Amino acid sequence: SNVSHELKTPLTTIRMYAELLADGRVREEEKRSDYLRVIIEQAQRLARLVNNVLDFSRIEQNRKKYDIEPLDAREALVRILETQQPRFDEAGIRLSVTGPAEGFSAALDRDAFEQAVLNLADNAIKYAAEGKELQVELASGAQGREIRFLDRGPGVPASHRGRLFQNFHRVDDSLTSRQPGTGLGLSIARRMMRDMGGDIAFEPRPGGGSCFVLRLPEGRMS
Ligand code: ADP
Repeated sequence: SNVSHELKTPLTTIRMYAELLADGRVREEEKRSDYLRVIIEQAQRLARLVNNVLDFSRIEQNRKKYDIEPLDAREALVRILETQQPRFDEAGIRLSVTGPAEGFSAALDRDAFEQAVLNLADNAIKYAAEGKELQVELASGAQGREIRFLDRGPGVPASHRGRLFQNFHRVDDSLTSRQPGTGLGLSIARRMMRDMGGDIAFEPRPGGGSCFVLRLPEGRMS
């Protein structure tokens, strides 16, 4: 029921703003472009949601297929984050991407990787805007190649960390209840990364905030 509520909300908003525009009674140019922006944002939200729900049902029925090919993960990452720049700006989040320019090609399904990155970025926008920053760091460590998403939001209470990646799990606080969500984003993102030979993990960030670590698969490419 939470999922259907989440699907209906953006649809209702899109219809409402589209009707206002169709009426022809919105005279000011600025207002019209505001309304159009809302429609675009809500359509994007709906697309993320539908992708998550479709992936969830495919995964549950063991029907999820991956189209694995060599992908420059850094290049793809930057491109995906660029599409979210207006949302980062609106949320007052300064985004930075750091780390070596080369050496992050991996065998990945482009769409699954995109969905994982989008879910992590979406969460930073929804839950960690108060921290005003999202640092995305690429690094090669003992555990392999990682993309670390570091925010300065409230972090995740220790009692919830074990369940964070479970289907439908959401932290029951006022922040989460104010934000849209199904509790599927992290579980799907981890599952897809694991299916591709990578992983996603959570670490509390020293000094406050969350660190979500996306590990790239290390298998040979080609
Ligand atoms: P959703 O965002 O749809 O609720 P997710 O599976 O993406 O679902 O996230 C599960 C829960 O983890 C969220 O509801 C939220 O409580 C918590 N969470 C996720 N990312 C963050 C973050 N960066 N900072 C704080 N809490 C987070």
